[in-house]
Parts: sequence; C-alpha cells; structure tokens
Amino acid sequence: MIQVTKAYLPPLSQYESQLERIWQSGQITNNGPLTKELTESLRAYLEASNLELVANGTLALQLAIKALGLNGEIITTPFSYVATVTSILWENCEPVFVDIEDKTFCIDTGRIEAAISGRTSAILATHVYGYPCDVVNIEQIARKHGLKVIYDAAHAFGVRLNGQPILRHGDVSALSFHATKLFHTTEGGALVCRDKQVAKRIYLMRKFGHIGEDDYLEVGVNANMSEIHAAMGLCILPRVNEIVSYRRALSEHYDSSLKGLGLIRPQADKGLEYNYAYYPVVFPSHGNMMRVRQALLDNGVGPRRYFYPSLNRLPYLRPEIQRPCPVSESITSRVLCLPLYFGLKQNELEMICKVVAEGMK
Ligand SMILES: *Cc1c(COP(=O)(O)O)cnc(C)c1O
Repeated sequence: MIQVTKAYLPPLSQYESQLERIWQSGQITNNGPLTKELTESLRAYLEASNLELVANGTLALQLAIKALGLNGEIITTPFSYVATVTSILWENCEPVFVDIEDKTFCIDTGRIEAAISGRTSAILATHVYGYPCDVVNIEQIARKHGLKVIYDAAHAFGVRLNGQPILRHGDVSALSFHATKLFHTTEGGALVCRDKQVAKRIYLMRKFGHIGEDDYLEVGVNANMSEIHAAMGLCILPRVNEIVSYRRALSEHYDSSLKGLGLIRPQADKGLEYNYAYYPVVFPSHGNMMRVRQALLDNGVGPRRYFYPSLNRLPYLRPEIQRPCPVSESITSRVLCLPLYFGLKQNELEMICKVVAEGMK
C-alpha cells in the first residue's frame, strides 16, 4: 500500500550513534544534552532565537493559548487538523470560525473583523499545507483590535516569505514534529515566540512550572521532549534540505503529469519559498473526488481526505459554534492529498497520476 505519507527514517547506524551518547550520559529526558543541542540547531536552522521544544504539536498549541493568557473567544479557521480547534476548547476558550479563502485555503482576512466581539482575545490561524496566511493583514487587524496572534505552523517548517522565515509572524507559532510531518522527532513539537518573556514562560510551563530543586512558580504541565526523541531530530535535521529537494521534484512531476485535468491547486505567493509539505488537489465535484479516491484505493494507493470534515461541523460543537463556512465545507468535500514523501518512486507517482487521469474521464 502506498500511503499519503511515510515517516522518514535515517540510517539506523546514525540513530545508534546518537543513542550511544544517551547511554553515555545516562540521561534520557529532562532537558539533556541532545535536547539542548537540537534546540540550538533548530534555532539556527529556523532563524528563531525564542524556540522551545515540547512533546508534541498539540501541547504546543495549548501552551501558546495558556502562556498568552487567552480567554473568551478565539477566531480560528475551519480548514485545519482537529487539534487546532480542540486546543482552543481544551483551554476553555470558545472557537469562532471564520471561513477560508479559495486561493490558499487559509483564513479569509476579509471576514475576520466582522467576527470580532468584545470577548475576542486572539486569532489562531493555520498556514495550511505550508502556504502562509495573509500575515500582513492579520497583523494589522490584531493590532487595531488589541488581539494576540497564534499560528498553527505544523505544516510550515522552513517556509520563508519574501526572504524571511514565516515563523517571525504572530506572537507565537506552534510547530509539530510528528512522524508524518516534513521534519520529525517521532512525536514532538516546538513553539517560536516573538517575545523572550513568553518563551521563558512556556519553558517553565512545559516542565510543571517547576525549576531548580523546589521552586514551583506556576501551574504547568509535562510537555518535555525526551532525549530518545531529540536523537531522531538530530539525525534528520542535517538531511532536511535533501528531503525538501526530493519532495520538490515529486511535486513538479505531479504538476506536469496532472496538468489539464481541471484539478485545483493552492496558489502560491510570489515571494514564497515553499517546503513541499503536501500535495493537495481539489476536484471539480465531491463525486469526482470520491470516484478517484476509490480508484486509487483499488490500486493500492491510500490518499487522504485532508482536511475533512470542515471543523465547524464537528459533531460535539454546540450548535451556535457550528456557523456555516461554505468555502471550507466545499473544499473539504472535494480535496485529496496525494502521496508525497522521501523515497516515493517515479514509477509509483506515474501510476498514481494515471489512475487519477482515468478517474477524471
Ligand atoms: C499535525 C498537526 C497538529 C498536531 O500536531 P501533533 O504533533 O500531532 O500533536 C496540529 N495542527 C495541524 C495543522 C497539524 O497538521
């Protein structure tokens, strides 16, 4: 079965050499030497000095909401993974969905102001598939209304816009290093903060709010990354550029093979340096997508309805939160992500394109 993604595994011998360091230090978690080294390497690679590692991307989002002291309503996107909205609910805030634009599938900034109320504390938007939100507009709106901005940057590892890392935008960006992501630590994540004080607070909160021998400074949680996880990151980080190039070549191959079939693709900004995190295609109709999906499954290919459902339609949301978001609901009913990962072969990609083209007839 060719799945939509396959976790990148470094050569085993390299992972073993990192593990040897752990066996030598005897320290397997609690901010050991590998975690410290990975933190420093990621700060350098992502050009983000206020970066803190955590156990996963969902905790990164929850910690961002907590550390910024958010309450009341948070404006968010219906077109994202479920963790974006469940983190808001988990922190006892109320999500207010604003529909997406049909070019980037990110939150439609033209609709944000109408959704702001006296209880709004922040905007939490996703850089969908690694395509940046309209960060300039979001910043302007946030400043005008005194709102905080969090980006779910789970897909945006290494993305740059006009020569600058996309992680520079917003008060906090949350990254996921889950096995399915472009860069991973098996499970893991990070927060990138604009303000050093917020980064310090997150550092404290992610280790129980406990420092030194017996100083307990505030309510925290355990969101530490272990040394075993950091070891994976240290093996993969030096290979990220090679991984991105490989994915870029596959994406360009898809572009040329699928041309003329009437599939819609997200539109990239001119100044975008993309990371090739996903290869989404939007079909002309739901029926069309379902037919192609079945044909792919019949040929041993598992594409993914990513994202589905539109988060404003999650069954456990109170009815007044489930406001209609027609653009997101339409895209979620027609989108598939095609397989894209390091090691996917040319002939496999060609077979996938052939099945898609057949299904479009
Ligand atoms: C993967 C992902 C998350 C959750 O990250 P985990 O590390 O799996 O907890 C959140 N948001 C988006 C958009 C994601 O793709």
